[in-house]
Amino acid sequence: DAGLGARLREARQRFSVEFSPAHDEATARRQWAAVQRLQELRPVFASVTYGAGGGSRDGTVELAGRLHRETDVLPLAHLTAVGQSTAELREVLRALARAGVREVLALRGDPDGDPGAPWEAHPEGLEHADELVALARAEGMRSVGVAAFPAGHPESPDLDTDTRHLLAKLRAGADFAIAQLTFDVEEFLRLRDRVVAAGRGDVPVLPGLLPLTSPTVLEVSDRLTGGQHPAWLRERLAGLIDDRDAFREEGVQIALESGRRLLDEGVEVLHLYTLNASRTAVRLVEELGLAG
Ligand code: FAD
Repeated sequence: DAGLGARLREARQRFSVEFSPAHDEATARRQWAAVQRLQELRPVFASVTYGAGGGSRDGTVELAGRLHRETDVLPLAHLTAVGQSTAELREVLRALARAGVREVLALRGDPDGDPGAPWEAHPEGLEHADELVALARAEGMRSVGVAAFPAGHPESPDLDTDTRHLLAKLRAGADFAIAQLTFDVEEFLRLRDRVVAAGRGDVPVLPGLLPLTSPTVLEVSDRLTGGQHPAWLRERLAGLIDDRDAFREEGVQIALESGRRLLDEGVEVLHLYTLNASRTAVRLVEELGLAG
């Protein structure tokens, strides 16, 4: 029974999806319909976000557990160290294991889920994500993934330092990484080059694709990436703000172009942000030929 790291190494031109725990019944219903539609296309995994920016904590265990019980899709639970003691983190890992979830994405998190807030560790907690990787492994998790940052994490002084910290997370036991959203394919490819140059070309690094289907999604994306959108992206969308359909179509086209470029460069798995809906994700999977 291979862990997710091994499955990702073997995958050829496939996709994964990301969901966030729903805050209300209507979203939960739409989300589950999206899960059922997308499962037919056989994603390599479905990840479930965690914490302040990503929905309630119990919600992550619940949704990941439901994916395990009721679908054929492998769940990947995000977990953040922020605001919790090591003992509490261990409890969450054990709750995940009881729910049948054995793959986690180990993250540090940000105070109040605010990517710009100065970092402060819990007094009885962890300082960096590498320690959470080790904790997750010690608790028997089968695969552990980590975050990687094509443009460097905002708190990193330079890319070399940032890469060293990514390598430390791999040494601590991570066997794959998911990159922060980037609309700059070259920037993502350079991150992959750094990982290969460090001798860790065995580690799958997934790019994230967020189709910018509305001005609201563009705003969310801007916040997540700390305002690092390339100028051409704004230029392509700026004139379409008042035309919902044209905006959506251009957003999808941008994602399709990035997806094609990444596949041409030998990237095998594209991580798709679903925003808890299936329509756009299904279109990307079909047009890029990523169904399993
Ligand atoms: P770390 O790897 O700990 O890095 C944080 C900073 O510390 C970096 O500058 C790094 O270079 C530095 N650093 C790392 N290790 C060391 C070390 N050993 N010594 C010194 N410095 C070090 N947030 C949520 O709240 N919920 C989510 O579900 C969520 N999902 C995410 C999914 C992805 C794919 C990504 C890319 C991010 C996600 N985030 C999520 C956001 C994430 O929590 C933040 O980006 C956070 O600021 C950094 O987390 P990290 O795991 O990369 O931290």
